Amino acid sequence: MSNRLTELKENYEVIQERINKACQKAGRQASEITLIAVTKTYPAIDVDLLQQLGIENVGENKDQEASAKKLEVKEQFKWHFIGQLQSNKAKSVVNYADLIHSVDRISLVKELQKSAASINKQQEVLIQVDLDQRGPDPSRGGIWPAELLDLAGLISQSSHLQLMGLMSVAPLGEEPGPAFERLSLIRADFLKFHPQAKILSAGMSEDLEEAVLFGATHLRIGSALLGERPKIG
Ligand SMILES: *Cc1c(COP(=O)(O)O)cnc(C)c1O
Repeated sequence: MSNRLTELKENYEVIQERINKACQKAGRQASEITLIAVTKTYPAIDVDLLQQLGIENVGENKDQEASAKKLEVKEQFKWHFIGQLQSNKAKSVVNYADLIHSVDRISLVKELQKSAASINKQQEVLIQVDLDQRGPDPSRGGIWPAELLDLAGLISQSSHLQLMGLMSVAPLGEEPGPAFERLSLIRADFLKFHPQAKILSAGMSEDLEEAVLFGATHLRIGSALLGERPKIG
């Protein structure tokens, strides 16, 4: 086994152990949880190695990097687009993303619908919810919870978009537990109107335990699996 594969395997085992423990504590089954390996900044060769660990889902946050990497990767994965998405990148992302996690505004819904219709694809999407209580901040992404149901309604009416659930990132400067607890309440209300949209994408390397406790179905794990990313900028 290559050194890199051994390293990834060891990291993956630690994460699986953390998920198992968190599930036990929450009275959940580990089989309810999908791990998405966030491969941003890491090369296609690492992505291909993940297949040998049985990882089937990978996530990227920038279109330019993701679209190039998708062409280089040899193995089959389900591709998740998890980053803030500019409307002018919608067309490109629809070409390769199986699930887009970061839908957060009307203009983007319209662009995604148009792009998906043009290639006759049913595009699966999540709505990103902004959990920051200090007020909306357009630079960070996510819709304000009060506007969630209107956006969900628009997606439901879009012929080429499938609303699959919600996504969120714990706000900076706050404990993740209370933030994910608020998310679980927002989600309970949302599910009354969109009962089929059961995915909850929440939890990253640092806060996966809290996310599992409050109902996450999809974890987005980068550094704990692939290693610390070099700081950019
Ligand atoms: C980078 C990123 C992650 C993974 O973060 P880690 O802390 O490295 O696990 C998860 N979600 C989003 C939206 C990201 O951009």
